[in-house]
Order: sequence, then structure tokens, then C-alpha cells
Amino acid sequence: MKLLNGYKETRSQSLSINYNNISFITKNNKSIDSIFKDNIMNNLKKNVSFWSQYWLPENEIIILHGDENDLDWMKEQLTFFNMVDGLNMRVIDSLSNGGGGGVVGEKLTTPLFWQIIGSDVGMQELKSVGMAKLTGHLYAHIAQPGFLNSVSDKHIKTTMMPSWYIEGQSDYHTICLLDGDFIENRNTFLKTAYVPDGYREKIKSASSDDWYDILCNDADFEGIPVTYEYWAGFFVYEDLVNDFGIEKIMSLTVDFANTLDFRQSIFNVLGINYNEFYLKMSKILHENAKSVVL
Ligand SMILES: [Zn+2]
Repeated sequence: MKLLNGYKETRSQSLSINYNNISFITKNNKSIDSIFKDNIMNNLKKNVSFWSQYWLPENEIIILHGDENDLDWMKEQLTFFNMVDGLNMRVIDSLSNGGGGGVVGEKLTTPLFWQIIGSDVGMQELKSVGMAKLTGHLYAHIAQPGFLNSVSDKHIKTTMMPSWYIEGQSDYHTICLLDGDFIENRNTFLKTAYVPDGYREKIKSASSDDWYDILCNDADFEGIPVTYEYWAGFFVYEDLVNDFGIEKIMSLTVDFANTLDFRQSIFNVLGINYNEFYLKMSKILHENAKSVVL
């Protein structure tokens, strides 16, 4: 079954190393549920092992973990680790009960990610696919620039790549690595994907041609409207991985480090021009998108 190709490959690549160089830091060693902590640590280790094929941090990984009562502490920690930028602080200010961000030190030597899960979010919530995949998703946002810059000396930001590729890649591999049944986890993630009000009807009724227009008109985001990037990115990334294999899709990053032109890299690596690629994407989105707005 085609749907399992990338899943099997991700799982087997996640067995390559046993990574333990991780510090888990909470405010004043605040006690947290040990099952909760184990879930986070195990999830992170599997994701580090998967990404180690492409990039592995030189120094330990630091997890700063807190809830909404720890926002000031979290800001102090980010300042201490010299990880302050507008985005980190803005995300912290706007969070209430779940989310987080990944940051990498200036020289890419001190990977660190922070995670906020609200105090009212119990174990039940953590079992939800959206929450359970948070750790792996955040780690992917550390490994992605690490990988990109390990194959280039230009100091490139992942924000220069299409957001569907970056977010789809982050969600896809981490969902493959969650405990439990992959298809079930995948479908739960998609069913609970965020779709802003006002978009549901548009998505429900969009034909393949409509999708083609949507993609072409949103060229700023390299084809996928930013409001759709997670779930639409997931569908497209998943299809690419299942068709071409993970290494080929990862090598888009390597090629991009040279071209700085994603469309060119699509052609160089996959052998299809960007118009054909849009056609392929619009077909995938037409076939799949309705399942997120049922
Ligand atoms: Zn993300």
C-alpha cells in the first residue's frame, strides 16, 4: 500500500542511533508527571535518530518545558541561552495552553527547543495527535536549518523555502514516529487540522482546476496558501515521499542550498517542471482536501 512507503522508511531510519544527550529543564525543577516526561523524551529521541541521517547536533539538546504560568521564566531562560528573537518572544506572549517553538543557537552548536503545554491540559490531551507530535515537530525545526546549513556556507534560513515543505516535512515524519497505528494517527491529525472560518466551504467545493488556481495565485508561499500549509503541506509532502522515497525528497534541501530557487530544485531533483508539479499538487489536494473539512 503506497500510503505506508514513507511511514516504513521513516520508522526504519529512526532506529539508526540511540541518542541520550538531552537535558530536560523545568522551572525550579517543578515536578511533572513522569509518563508525560517519558513521552516527550522518547518522542524526541526517535526524531533525533531519524534526523541523524541528515544532521546531528554537536552539543546537547536542551528542552525548556513550562506551562502558561512559566512564561516569565521561559523568557529568562531564552535570554540566558541567547535565544532571544522577536519570533520566540511573540509566540510566548500569544500562547495560553499549548504550543512551542524550536530555536537553534547562532553557530548551530546549541540546539534548544522550548515547549509550553497548559496546566489545564491533562494526559488525555497529550494523547491527542496534535499535542503528541509537538516535540518532534519542534525538533524538526531545529534539524532543518542545521541540515540546510551543513550543506552550504551561505547561512540560509528555512523561511526561504516553501512553508508547505518545511511544515509538511515536520508534521509528516513526527506523525510516522508516534506510538500507535499510523493510519489512525494520520487521519486524526488531518481531521483535527486547523482550518480558519470562512475557508471550509471553499475547500469543500474546490475542483482540481480551482486548486490549480489557488496554488498559482499564492505563489508567494510557493503554491500553498499559508492558512493551509500544515495539512495541505502534509498531503503533498506525504505523496512526494511515498512516490520518490525520503532521501530524494530530503535532497531537495541539498539542491536548494545551491540554487536558492525551489522551483529549479524541483526540476533538478524530481525531473518535473514547476507547472507539472502544480498540476500534481492540485490533483492531490482535490482528492484529499475534503477529508479535513468533513
Ligand atoms: Zn512548524
